[in-house]
Amino acid sequence: MAKGHKKLVAIYVRKSRLKDADSMEISRQLELLTDYAEKNNMEYEVFSEEGSSEDWNRAEFQRMLMELKRNIYDGVLCTDQDRITRDRTDFGLFVRFMKAEALQFYTLNKTYNFMNDEDVFVTGIQSEMDNHFMRMTKRKLRRGRIQAIKKGVYFGIAPYGYAKDEQKHLLPHPEESKVVEDIYRMYVHEGLNQAEICEQLTLTGKKTRAGKNFTPRTTSLILSNIAYRGTVHYELQGEDVITVEEAHPALVDASTYNKAQELRAGKRKVPQASQRGVYTLSRLLVCPSCGQTLSFCMKYAKRSGRNNLDKSQRELYLLNCYASKSQKAKQEHTGERCKNNATKSSRVEEVVFSKLNQHLTDLDTKIEAIVAGDTSFLSSVAIKQQELTLQYNKLDEQKKRVQDGFKAGIYEQDEATAEIKAIKEQQLQIEKELTGLEGADAKSEVDKHKKAKAKIEMLLSMDTEANPTKANKLLHDVIDKVYYWKELSDRDGKPKPFEIRIVYKEEQV
Ligand SMILES: [Zn+2]
Repeated sequence: MAKGHKKLVAIYVRKSRLKDADSMEISRQLELLTDYAEKNNMEYEVFSEEGSSEDWNRAEFQRMLMELKRNIYDGVLCTDQDRITRDRTDFGLFVRFMKAEALQFYTLNKTYNFMNDEDVFVTGIQSEMDNHFMRMTKRKLRRGRIQAIKKGVYFGIAPYGYAKDEQKHLLPHPEESKVVEDIYRMYVHEGLNQAEICEQLTLTGKKTRAGKNFTPRTTSLILSNIAYRGTVHYELQGEDVITVEEAHPALVDASTYNKAQELRAGKRKVPQASQRGVYTLSRLLVCPSCGQTLSFCMKYAKRSGRNNLDKSQRELYLLNCYASKSQKAKQEHTGERCKNNATKSSRVEEVVFSKLNQHLTDLDTKIEAIVAGDTSFLSSVAIKQQELTLQYNKLDEQKKRVQDGFKAGIYEQDEATAEIKAIKEQQLQIEKELTGLEGADAKSEVDKHKKAKAKIEMLLSMDTEANPTKANKLLHDVIDKVYYWKELSDRDGKPKPFEIRIVYKEEQV
């Protein structure tokens, strides 16, 4: 660097919106950084904002990246690396960006030149340490909270019927607690349904805390809250459930509370039946031979169950191609039936979920490759862009031929107009597709994979049997279709093998 040449750097300062002990005020960061800049003969531009280290789309941060692309800056200056991001993948993307723009990264302790591989390695470690620190802090906060809960501290607003004392413990509210007792009594001991209970409460002038009449929705919340039994039940994200018995005075005894839950469970069966027909794999399985989408139905697995119509012995079965057809399609069907055989649904589900599990590893590999600079996804996008541009240009030629034809008297005026209008519509379509492809950069590609990962992780951890509708929706979010083929029938009672192939949504350009 020639003497006298002043470097131009982008100073980036950020403060988290959360109050944590380590957060340094923006003014303090600025003071340190401008000092540093002056000592090191640097001119600077300041980018300052409040925001989370986990959010990549911070406005000022994004504006800074855009500015840095102008090729007038020498680098970025921050107090430390985690001002940029604490996320390891995001930091990898930042390094990639800095490398591509040939920019230096200055922190108060060290200057990084990413063209130098060792620096990339060191920042990788730094980022890991920051992550570790974040996890530790979160764990500490969580531990404190668990301790408090165990001592009977109630987090959040006191439920109806209770008030909170100075130690944040629940105490029975003099009037509200009577109403809660009444609700349980009417429901459990007097056999009233929730609408009738609400009617009674309104008649006697009882109101909710907001001064409104009780509705079955509010009484339902009261009848299902375990706090009234004196228990604190708490679920922290990613942690075990914490249950503390006798945390505060109960408003109803345990047996009354449990009876209420039994009654509620018995009544709930009615609306759940309305969901009948949506299974975990609904509208996903396709026959590769005839293209039929395969349906499901509940069947008696054993003859004994069928004979005494014991519904608990029914199991979910996949139907074969012909049986999957609608009544109308069956009537119209001629010729041979497809040779694809059906089987028990749980077998197929098991294989689909184990493949999803494998797919998680594939996604991790893809993300790592992109962060490391793999651009093969870009080349597939580029090919598509090329194809579309070619199509667009061909249509231009066609347009010209029509115009020439009109001049030469081959086309009538309205013929030519209609023809050109049709061509223009096709071109508009291509333009739209091209705009759609423009978003394909490393960051959005990584985000796409991350989103798919989160959904698959949710699927793998959830109880699909209890919530087939939700599981089915998530599956449709990540999977386009699953080809299913089974050569042999299970008719003799022995399950035969089958093949499946999953087509993921992200695989389609
Ligand atoms: Zn078929």
